[in-house]
Amino acid sequence: MAEPIFKRLALIGIGLIGSSIARGAREFGGIVGEIVICDTSPEALERAAALRLGDSYEADPASAVRGADGVILCTPVGGYAALMRDIAPNLMAGALLSDVGSTKESVLRDVGPLVPDGVDFVPAHPIAGTEFSGPDAGQAGLFQGRWALLTPLERGNEDAVRKVERMWQILGARTARMDPAHHDRVIAIVSHLPHLIAFTICGTADDLADETKQEVLQFAASGFRDFTRIAASDPVMWRDIFLNNKDALLEMLARFSEDAQAMARAVRWGDTAYIEDKIVRSRKIRKSLIDLNQA
Ligand code: NAP
Repeated sequence: MAEPIFKRLALIGIGLIGSSIARGAREFGGIVGEIVICDTSPEALERAAALRLGDSYEADPASAVRGADGVILCTPVGGYAALMRDIAPNLMAGALLSDVGSTKESVLRDVGPLVPDGVDFVPAHPIAGTEFSGPDAGQAGLFQGRWALLTPLERGNEDAVRKVERMWQILGARTARMDPAHHDRVIAIVSHLPHLIAFTICGTADDLADETKQEVLQFAASGFRDFTRIAASDPVMWRDIFLNNKDALLEMLARFSEDAQAMARAVRWGDTAYIEDKIVRSRKIRKSLIDLNQA
């Protein structure tokens, strides 16, 4: 049988993404010999053990990475620098370090300088998820047909990048390489801004519900229900994403606000052509997503 990509893989953080990698690695084979699971939440670690997601369980990240030839950070991005300071002294020479964080320039900034010599760092971001968190939320098939974006270092080790690509491909994802700044701008518009809008609209509706004695939520229509699903996501993870992709997110928000103002003007002046054109364009975007199997 062919050698797996990693003999011993340490997954730091066993939430939605970490536990989906663990499940997929078990189900599809070829990725790992042994899985070490680490989470600083005792409840998450206990659930991971009950679900048999790994071969061993560690509450301390510095101990978990000892002897691992593969380490993947699967925790909220705001804690990466502190986590790296913890684990860096114990990373094995020749180990491959990767991550799944949703922002990539901040990861380069926070993790890059702390990677010890002899360790290969390959940042990555799977574009897959749900609004649920924790080890129970994971699914082996979460990454099937989705994209995993890699933002390799300029002078990084090509073999290490190929290993990370292979891992994501075994998990069912399509892979692409991107510059981290470009990644952050693209993801700001397709993921971070929609979440910001969802959190905001839910807050607005909730304020209005207070004024109108619950009628808004009671008669929630499907459009609003879709926003509440997006807005049910983890607060720590999303706080960290917003703060660590600040520039790109604010730029996209400014562009969106301009376009929303233009739509408001069209509504005010009864500009039917403008309104219809926007809706027709949006329907085309939805159709092309369905055609691309990304809906
Ligand atoms: P999650 O379900 O909230 O799980 C994260 C787990 O990591 C929690 O159990 C958390 O414990 C633990 N943790 C926090 N700091 C830790 C540390 N220093 N050492 C060990 N464990 C630690 O999160 P997730 O949704 O899997 O997201 C993880 C990462 O994937 C984030 O960087 C996110 O940006 C990225 N991502 C998420 C999605 C998505 O849709 N969810 C999609 C793509 C990428 P506590 O709860 O006690 O803090």
